[in-house]
Amino acid sequence: MARHLLLLDQDGVLADFDGALDEVLRDLGHDPTLLERTAWDYAKDVERHFGIDAVRALDDAWRAPGFFKRLDVIDGAIEAVEELLALGFDVAVCTAPSSENPTCASDKLWWVDHHFPSLAGNVVLATDKTLVHGDLLIDDRPWISGLRRPTWQHLRFATKDEGPFADELSIDSWSEWRTVADLLDTGLVAA
Ligand SMILES: [Mg+2]
Repeated sequence: MARHLLLLDQDGVLADFDGALDEVLRDLGHDPTLLERTAWDYAKDVERHFGIDAVRALDDAWRAPGFFKRLDVIDGAIEAVEELLALGFDVAVCTAPSSENPTCASDKLWWVDHHFPSLAGNVVLATDKTLVHGDLLIDDRPWISGLRRPTWQHLRFATKDEGPFADELSIDSWSEWRTVADLLDTGLVAA
């Protein structure tokens, strides 16, 4: 039987994009814990709580060269990836580089090399993830669409205070990596 292929989104699943933006808010004197998040793209929430200047500061921050190289690793991600590899699953990173940040694509490749050397040869940069083959895609984005019906099933990685998601497949931290292994094992996804 073919080994099951797990695809991992980078920002919000492996790399702590939101944590870096929280730092920007703190530098502006705001308390990011006060932010009531109502949507995956929380620009409107930031504007409502902290004003349009905070939104502009966040946009400037993530568009700055080098931003994606400096992101911290999400808690438990390294250990979870090692466990899943040890169980015999194939694991690859599947990430959409931003065209609005001139060093995003190269920074993302550097970041995986640096923090996840065991995945360094298995990175796909794709603006349309439906074109990438796999069995399960873990991604924090709520909806993923593109030119094809995906071969993978989407497992949502919930961030911050989003969720729980009664109507969709989700985990909210890497402490739930066994759920991922179970999903791959039990054939919820066709082999
Ligand atoms: Mg993401």
